[in-house]
Amino acid sequence: MIKGTVLIIEDEENISDFISTSLRAQEFKTVCAKTAGEGINLATSLCPELILLDLGLPDMDGIEVIKNVREWSMLPIIVISARSQEKEKVEALDLGADDYITKPFGISELMARIRTALRHGAIASGTGAASEVFKVGGFSLDFGKRLVKVDGNEVHLTQVEYKIVALLARNAGKVMTYDAIISHVWGPYMDDNNRILRVNMANIRRKLEKNPAEPQYIYTEIGVGYRMMEEEG
Ligand code: CA
Repeated sequence: MIKGTVLIIEDEENISDFISTSLRAQEFKTVCAKTAGEGINLATSLCPELILLDLGLPDMDGIEVIKNVREWSMLPIIVISARSQEKEKVEALDLGADDYITKPFGISELMARIRTALRHGAIASGTGAASEVFKVGGFSLDFGKRLVKVDGNEVHLTQVEYKIVALLARNAGKVMTYDAIISHVWGPYMDDNNRILRVNMANIRRKLEKNPAEPQYIYTEIGVGYRMMEEEG
């Protein structure tokens, strides 16, 4: 059974071929575009289930593809970016990209990002259900009871800490930018709350992680935000 169509917008042929071959082996249908213009045309005509988008394209910036697609669709977009492009990643996420993957990446990492994006896409469009208890490793969060446990022991979080952890758990596997977390927790009018967010995250990690310096549940995406780990599968 075909799992859906993935549109790959990438001008580097070896990367595009590598992704395409790997996705086809996983029963996805793939279509490739080498320019932003061609990508926008194919996105409109094919309505793919997901777009993989390189930001550096020959005719215009990949950011323009995000702006265009977001005018008419919430379909998941994963940005393919170079290691040094923190600013571009944040801009892409703020404009509505769902996630990013940094070159060079392996196929299992790419598949994990795609699974997460498709799952969140299905929840957002109402065709999938968000579970009421989130679990990964020894961590669990019961949204109904607002109850957080690690290895069976209840963890006491402040209201703000709980809001941060619950947001990350609802979006497990997906990067959340500092701005997205701050506006969710403190509202859109709190400027420059990165320091308060960092302090809260340090406290959260002390409560959740065996070794806060090497977190196993909430990862830092340097210069971008945080990502809650997601169970494989
Ligand atoms: Ca490129």
